[in-house]
Amino acid sequence: MSSLFPALADGGPAAGRPALRFGGRSLTYGELAAAAAPVAGAVRGARRVAVWATPALETAVAVTAALLAGVTVVPLNPKSGAGELGHILSDSAPDLVLAAPGQDLPEALAGLARLDVDPADRAPGPFPGDLAGDGADDEDPALVVYTSGTTGPPKGALIPRRAIAATLDALADAWQWTGDDVLVHGLPLFHVHGLVLGVLGPLRRGGSVRHLGRFTTEGVARELNGGATMLFGVPTMYHRVAEALPAEPELVRALAGARLLVSGSAALPVHDHERIAAATGRRVIERYGMTETLMLCSSRWTPPDPRPGVRADGEARPGTVGVPLPGVELRLVEEDGSPVAAYDGETVGEVQVRGPNLFTGYLNRPDATAGAFTADGWFRTGDMAVRDADGSVRLVGRKATDLIKSGGYKIGAGEIENALLEHPGVREAAVTGEPDADLGERIVAWVVPSSPGAPPTLDELAGHVAARLAPHKRPRVLHHLAALPRNDMGKIMKRALRHD
Ligand code: ATP
Ligand code: MG
Repeated sequence: MSSLFPALADGGPAAGRPALRFGGRSLTYGELAAAAAPVAGAVRGARRVAVWATPALETAVAVTAALLAGVTVVPLNPKSGAGELGHILSDSAPDLVLAAPGQDLPEALAGLARLDVDPADRAPGPFPGDLAGDGADDEDPALVVYTSGTTGPPKGALIPRRAIAATLDALADAWQWTGDDVLVHGLPLFHVHGLVLGVLGPLRRGGSVRHLGRFTTEGVARELNGGATMLFGVPTMYHRVAEALPAEPELVRALAGARLLVSGSAALPVHDHERIAAATGRRVIERYGMTETLMLCSSRWTPPDPRPGVRADGEARPGTVGVPLPGVELRLVEEDGSPVAAYDGETVGEVQVRGPNLFTGYLNRPDATAGAFTADGWFRTGDMAVRDADGSVRLVGRKATDLIKSGGYKIGAGEIENALLEHPGVREAAVTGEPDADLGERIVAWVVPSSPGAPPTLDELAGHVAARLAPHKRPRVLHHLAALPRNDMGKIMKRALRHD
């Protein structure tokens, strides 16, 4: 039994330090402990609580309090449809739901006891000592996080406290993340990225987080120029940053001066990585993780070196997600389960992992849990990758949707998407395979044109891709779309790609 948040349990010199800021409201560590204490007292003894996870101070206080009380948290996406919400509630069967006072909750939650979390309601006196040790076992589930549902109905991953501590400490090591860091946050709070990395991360380090409520490039510039040190985002945010940089000198200054810029949850297009590097001199560190495994890979960060021409930001290279984090074992395996022969930057295998960062299983899904692990305990990520000779991992795509078997080749959708995005007529791109009598599968490009009046033709794009990659990687079919179907993390929902 160890504390997830040493700075909160402390009550000593850390108490006056800033912890959370959401819009105009903020809490120091002392205030957070005082606001969490009554909530922790009220939920203690519950088995599992749901949290209506709006991007607000109440959510951060509710989650922190429940974790301090040793109670499992099920974060709910406030934008979920009734069907998804119903599934999550019946699957996870929470004892009560925590929400901001006055928050309207949908019908699906009507039968559940409710606890209002008001950060202004503070317990007097020191933080109750019996809560300071969290009162839970390291293997107890801290969170049930439902996967993004990119490839099927969401499954509830049981994330033990041990995994949260392991992943946050591994990131601290890789990124030299300390209590002096101030994070700019613009993500939702019901997934691992926004909740575990974005809120629990700063609190575990004793640092602070400033949440923008809604992501804007102006907000990023304001916070990074106003004392924040790091930005965590998803690729759609960095895309917006890349688009805005030429017209926003304050944003250039902000990124150039930041300590650390991190992207994750989906592949950062090489084109955006390069535009940001060219405009700011900074490289976005890309990290790779999953709900089930928390964080797996990242480049190691190194401090900027004042000498001209010396690279800052570690070995961040566009198109790679770095190396396995400390404590993470990672291997690439062939379809028959044997390890791939070589780390040569070309041989594709499925990523399998082991480590203290892993979940313990899917709630109520022993079938899915058993299927997710090999006999010797490796978790099958379902992601395909190659490794370069230096150990860097390059994700090729998901086995289920991004690996196209065409003309005897295994082709990753990602590199074709990256090539398409370099074409000036392409604003957004996704690549899939569809059955082909001749080739097995043929490559299909789904493109949002930069200017709808003059969309690029198949011939143009096929020529563009063939010239950059190889002729067999050129798309054979092109669909133009007004927008790609994306979920709330900006992930492309490939199973929703339809042409009409
Ligand atoms: P579901 O499992 O329900 O289909 P999901 O896999 O999208 O949804 P998450 O656990 O949120 O749910 O996402 C993990 C996946 O996101 C990884 O397996 C990987 O495919 C992708 N991913 C995460 N980080 C990166 C990255 N840096 N580059 C490319 N892909 C990434
Ligand atoms: Mg998944």
